[in-house]
Amino acid sequence: MLSWTEARDKVIEIVRARKPRRRRRETASLERALGRVLAAPAVADRDSPAFARAIRDGFAVRAADTEPAPAVLAIAGEVRAGAAFSGAIGPSQAVRIMTGAPVPDGADAVVMVEHTRLEGDGRVAIERAARPGQHIVARAAEARCGDRLLEPGARIGFAELALLSQVGCSAVKVFRQPRVAVLATGDEIVPPDCQPGPFEIRDTNSACIAAQARIAGARPVPFGRAADQAETLGERVREALEAEVDVLVLSGGVSMGKYDLVEDVLRGLGAEFFFDAVAIRPGRPAVFGWCRNRPVFGLPGNPVSAMVTFELLVVPALDLLAGAGPRPLPLVQARLDAPLEEKGELTHFLPAQLGWTPAGLVARPVRWRGSGDLAGLAQSNGFLVVPPEKLSWQAGESIQALLRRDLL
Ligand code: AMP
Ligand code: MG
Repeated sequence: MLSWTEARDKVIEIVRARKPRRRRRETASLERALGRVLAAPAVADRDSPAFARAIRDGFAVRAADTEPAPAVLAIAGEVRAGAAFSGAIGPSQAVRIMTGAPVPDGADAVVMVEHTRLEGDGRVAIERAARPGQHIVARAAEARCGDRLLEPGARIGFAELALLSQVGCSAVKVFRQPRVAVLATGDEIVPPDCQPGPFEIRDTNSACIAAQARIAGARPVPFGRAADQAETLGERVREALEAEVDVLVLSGGVSMGKYDLVEDVLRGLGAEFFFDAVAIRPGRPAVFGWCRNRPVFGLPGNPVSAMVTFELLVVPALDLLAGAGPRPLPLVQARLDAPLEEKGELTHFLPAQLGWTPAGLVARPVRWRGSGDLAGLAQSNGFLVVPPEKLSWQAGESIQALLRRDLL
């Protein structure tokens, strides 16, 4: 059985090798580009800054005139952001300057207003000698006109939106988002807005998987629920395969039960499988295959199993299909605040509450009753990663934890 890292690497290897060479592009406004993947480089359309820019409020001076300090200079005028000083600064002169304004010709330093004193007769005392270049960002120091500032494949976050705005890229070329068919299986499953029969349960996986897909930057396409019956399940899967989707994510029906039919049904539709178990708990029966030109994932039906396997295995596939590289998992080290004892040759993902303290990250395992326990899970914001090599832990030890991205 593959370890979770091997299974994840397998997904990355297969999706990278088999995904369509060309991905469709579209244009998104800045308002809609958050979380999308850039399909064309962002190129500086002017030098940045486009002029030598003051980064403090104060006085533009010739540094040589400020020595020895204090030096008293004549105020020759003022320059504010968005304007320019006409002419050049002469010997023993200073120009009042605001943050963001262009530094007047002849000046080579800005003295912070805090280090000056107005003399009241049109002169200013500079109380500290200035260093040439001080509080000035030279023209093009950040970027030159024509520089590529972001490459295709970059994920657009808030900082990238700022940079795209800076270079005037208001219509952003992005790759089309991967479309994720979401299909829940199980005779016992009813939609969340229905009253379940005595032995039925509400479908929690569809909403969760759709949310995880969206957080990963993909577009979920709901395919509802299918019963544990080969014909109807096959019908539903075929429908999904015929739709315009890039990946199929099913939940339930992948364990060893008599009515766990997902693998058989997919095989009947021509699927090839790369693994059908991963050495993790929860999530062991997770299945990954390829069917009619697209990846298919059969996630275990237990809600927490589905969540964990989606994060570990499906997210990197979505990243690659989106035209980006697989993002790293948000794994951190945390100090365990209670002892732990697990069993089995598996990596355990245990819900935990992670807290940021002045002494670092602290992890407290939450009480939960296994991979169906959503109420217990709701007390957590991440998972402890307990590897098979070390199943026994003391309070105070440093343990690996997987953060939940949506709660960061
Ligand atoms: P399975 O993987 O089909 O054997 O399902 C494992 C457990 O997860 C069973 O207790 C199911 O009732 C439950 N389950 C399966 N699918 C869902 C779903 N969509 N929402 C909530 N629970 C589910
Ligand atoms: Mg089932």
